[in-house]
Amino acid sequence: MIEQKVALVTGASRGIGRAICVRLGEAGYAILINYNENLGAAEETRHLVENLGATVEICQGDISCKSHRDLLVRFTTDRFGRIDLLVNNAGIAPHVRTDILETDEESFDRVLNTNLKGTYFLTQTVARVMIGLIESKAIERPAIVNISSMRSYTAAANYGEYCISKAGLSMVTKLFAVRLAEYGINVYEVSPGIIETDMTAPANVRAYYDEKLSAGLSPINRWGKPEDVAAAVAAIATGHFPFSTGEVFHVDGGWHLRHL
Ligand code: NAP
Repeated sequence: MIEQKVALVTGASRGIGRAICVRLGEAGYAILINYNENLGAAEETRHLVENLGATVEICQGDISCKSHRDLLVRFTTDRFGRIDLLVNNAGIAPHVRTDILETDEESFDRVLNTNLKGTYFLTQTVARVMIGLIESKAIERPAIVNISSMRSYTAAANYGEYCISKAGLSMVTKLFAVRLAEYGINVYEVSPGIIETDMTAPANVRAYYDEKLSAGLSPINRWGKPEDVAAAVAAIATGHFPFSTGEVFHVDGGWHLRHL
């Protein structure tokens, strides 16, 4: 078994997941980089993290698929012998934003199967592994972090399947926080606002948020960076919140604050 703590980060080839890997590498974690389609980007993440001197492995796997999830977890334990941190970061948006009066079932299933069902069952599988490792005294106080979204509580009627998936993910955090506390496994939700990544790169999405920001969208009125989200995950991963579980960390420039 490797000496360093091990983090399994889903959707780590690009964007927020990549930044999380870098911050966790800096914090001394060995990293398992998961990606779905983009091996080249995953290799770039590996390069960035290896340059920090951290140990890294890559594993392809579609988290919406049970056999892939099982393989991902087995690969991590085979290579490292432990999992101390699961970061459920992988997530997708609908291909096209569609009014909820028109949403098609295929898009609904695609988004829910990845963002909610895949994350739920990956968490279940990893939690069982963590419990076994705790009981055999191989690890202490592992943690789970779910990357949700401001969309978990902010309705967008042309983005329904995504909003529902993230609202569900907030409950996944609460459920596992309650269930896993007896084992010393804390579960957290990190809730980003508008973050500059490939997900928000399409010109129409970018223009929409640029317009909102120029009208004064949030108290800290700028685009968020993947590094802003990674900083919150790293603070959790380094054990600064031992008496908090099910907690939501907003990384949104204060968007969630009601104000007049
Ligand atoms: P992104 O740039 O589009 O990257 C998505 C990542 O998820 C990629 O690494 C992708 O892998 C991976 N992925 C997609 N489907 C997967 C699957 N089925 N199995 C495994 N990996 C999969 O997205 P991002 O903006 O960094 O978003 C990361 C997380 O933050 C998501 O959960 C997203 O919902 C959430 N979030 C983002 C924002 C924002 O404004 N960007 C705001 C709030 C919350 P490949 O490279 O192989 O495709």
